[in-house]
Parts: sequence; structure tokens; C-alpha cells
Amino acid sequence: MKVGLRTRLSLSYILYTLLLIFLISVSANVYLEKHFQDYVKKQQEQKNNEIVALIQQQYRDGEWNRAVIEDIGINALENGMIVKVTNNKGHVIWDATVHNNGMCMQMLSHMANNMKSRYGQFNGEYVENPYIVKHDFQSVGTVQIGYYGPFYFNDSDLDFINSMNKMLSAIGLLALALAVVFGVFMARQLSKPISNVIKGAQLIAKGFFKEKIGNRSSTREIDQLTSTFNHLAETLDKQDALRKQMSADVAHELRTPIATLQSHLEAMIDGIWQPDVQRLKSCHEEVMRIGRMVGDLDKLAKVEAENLILDKESFNLLELARTIVQNFESAYKNKGIELTLTGVDSCLSADRDKISQVIINLLSNALKYTPSGGTVDISVDCFDEKTGIRIQDSGMGIPKEDLPYIFERFYRVDKSRNRLTGGSGIGLSIVKSIVDAHNGKIQVESELGKGTSITVTF
Ligand code: ADP
Repeated sequence: MKVGLRTRLSLSYILYTLLLIFLISVSANVYLEKHFQDYVKKQQEQKNNEIVALIQQQYRDGEWNRAVIEDIGINALENGMIVKVTNNKGHVIWDATVHNNGMCMQMLSHMANNMKSRYGQFNGEYVENPYIVKHDFQSVGTVQIGYYGPFYFNDSDLDFINSMNKMLSAIGLLALALAVVFGVFMARQLSKPISNVIKGAQLIAKGFFKEKIGNRSSTREIDQLTSTFNHLAETLDKQDALRKQMSADVAHELRTPIATLQSHLEAMIDGIWQPDVQRLKSCHEEVMRIGRMVGDLDKLAKVEAENLILDKESFNLLELARTIVQNFESAYKNKGIELTLTGVDSCLSADRDKISQVIINLLSNALKYTPSGGTVDISVDCFDEKTGIRIQDSGMGIPKEDLPYIFERFYRVDKSRNRLTGGSGIGLSIVKSIVDAHNGKIQVESELGKGTSITVTF
């Protein structure tokens, strides 16, 4: 059977409290009982000594003050003690059993009942303790004090024990009630945000990626769960937007070459055009272009999907640039372009492979759009207090009106020029996507006919 979080938490609170109440009551009863019994025994001894001391004061000049002794004895009897005073010849001065035997018996049975009410199997009996009465260091008589032993609880002792037990039960009940209230409250506090997360996750599962799970919780783990879900929704939303954008772009880009190809082929099928080598070559070129475009698209899709997960590490940006420059050296040499690298060692924490891709794309653009005899300078340094890389070429430059669009997919400044160089307008989209994923910045400065400078900072 599946039990909800709320029920489970409330039940565990109640169980925990019940266990605590049980342990506290048992230990309080055992511990307090033992101490209380010791205390009662000590009290009895003290009372006996006080009675003996009082009776001792009633002996003066060989005479006993019988009237006061009787008062003392009656008072003692009311407190559960049977007093008998004899002189040193063995003659009884005062005896509680003689004074009122009925009351003595009644008092003893009352004590026995008190003890039985508390301890069902109590093994008590009548105990008598003799005390010597001295006058001027000489024994003048004996006081015998009898009581129900080894100890007994009088009515106020029993009242104390009973009220303590009642108080413990009341505290237990209160604790139980509080446990239920707190349990339900805590369970609500925990289960409400989890229910919110579940509702949000269900909406995300249905494709509503824009849905955000609100209500921040004061519990760290739940807060983390909520923000993880929100992040997941954001990522899925971005992926969804990318997918839609990509489909739209692909449709748009493929439409023209496919339409050209279709009309050429139809013309040849209908016999309007002869399928000569020239026309077939033109068709083949279109097919090749579509093929290249699909390849580039594949690359971009991969990069954009991978950008959602960055494998960051610390590395020296200058060293990375040096390695890439070495790979480009022969291509630059062949085209007659001078390639130089300057800068300082700069530590960067980023996805090394993706940053390599950025440098490679920028260097291949500089190579593509710089005529032979030109120069390309790479510098790794601090730009606006941020680590970065600048690639400056003395190439053909980009017209001002095109600058805002060069990072868009399939955007080419000069379509015919790019047909020759083979670019499909994806390289800078990849660069931008990677730099964005790193929260970096790209700045482009370009002057037509003079050159372009692209600075990437992280
Ligand atoms: P492509 O594959 O066409 O090079 P990119 O996305 O890399 O696509 O670049 C987009 C357009 O920006 C290019 O077609 C080109 O016209 C322009 N461009 C990029 N880099 C440079 C540069 N260094 N010098 C001149 N033009 C450039």
C-alpha cells in the first residue's frame, strides 16, 4: 500500500512522541519512586527522633509530665505512629494502644490499604523501634515507636504521587497533541512544495515548457529540486525553440535550390531542355550545395545541443591558440597571408574543445576573406578587464549594414562570393552559440576594404 508523505510524516511524529512519552514515564516512575521511598524512610527516622526529643523534655526532677506526653502521643498517632513510653523500671507512663486501641488498629489498616493501593503485592508489617530516654546522661526510660514498615505513604504522600502521575499523563497528552499538530504542519510544509514540483513536472511532461514552478521553499533540498526542474524546463524550452527555428531555417534554405533543381529537371523531362553536360553539371552543383548545407546544419545542430552541457576545465588560452595556429600555418602560407600570434599566458575555465572550435572558425573566416598578401594577427590578452582573444585581418571587411546579421544562421554578406568559397553562413552562428553558452561576449569591428577585427571575451 502506498502511503502519502503527509500521512507518513504525521504518523512518524506521533510514533516518536509516544515512544518518548513511554520512556519518560517509565524512567520518571522508576527513578522518582526510588528517591521518594528513601526520602519517606529518612522522614520517618527524623519524626521518630523528634518525638523522642520532645518526650525527653517532659522528664523533670524524677517526674514525667504525663499530660504533655499524652498530647505528643495523640499527635503522633494521628500521623501514623503508635507511641509507648515506659520508665526504667518497666512501668508504662503512656501507651497509645491503651489510650485508644481501636484508633491504632484503624490507623495501621489505613496505612496497609494506602500501600496496597500503590503496590498491589506490598510486603509490609507493623514495626516497632525502641529509643532510650536520657536525663543527665542517665537512662530514665524507653520510648517505643511503632508504625507500618519498612515505610509507608500517608495520604498527602499518596496525593503527591498521584498528582505527579496525573501531571505526567497531562504532559504526555499535550505532547501527543502537539506532535499531531506539528506533524501535520511539517508534513504540509514539505508536501506542498513537492506537490507543486509534481504539478509543474506534469505540465512540463505535457510540453508546457514555459511553466515555472513558483513558491520557493525554505527547505534547501526542495529548493534545489524546484530550481533543477525550472532549469530543466528552460533547457527543454530552449531545445524546443532551437528545433523549431532549425526546421524553419532548413525549409527556408532548401526551398530555393530544390525549386531550381525541380524546374531544371521538369524542363528536361518535358523535352524543353536537352539534358546536356552543362545542364546536368548545374543540377549536380545544386545537389552538392544542398549536401554541404545539410552537413553544416548537422554540425550546427550538434553544437547547439552540446552547448547545453559544458565540460569546463582550466587551460591556458594562449597555448590553445598556439596549437591551432600551427595547424593553420600551411594553409595561410599557401594563400600568401602572414599569420602572427602575440599575447600573454591567460588562464581560462571553459570547455576547451568548444573554445577551439571558436578559434578555428574565426581563423578559417579570416583565411577565406583575406586576399593573398594580407595579414592576420591573433592576440590573447585582457580586453576590458576580461580574458579574451582578438583576430584581426586586413581582408575585405564587412559592410556596416550587414554587421548586425552576420551571426544569424545562413547569413552571407555576398551570396555569390560565398558560393565560390563554399561558405553557407553557419560558421559564425556556431561561434556565437558557443560564446553565449559560456556567457561571453563577441565584438566585431570592420571596415570595408580594410579589414575585420573580431574580439571574443569570457
Ligand atoms: P560562412 O560559412 O559564409 O563563412 P560565417 O557564418 O562564418 O559563414 O560568416 C557569415 C558571413 O560573414 C560570411 O559569409 C562573410 O560574408 C562574413 N564574414 C565573416 N567573417 C569575415 C571576415 N573575417 N571578413 C569578411 N567577412 C566576413
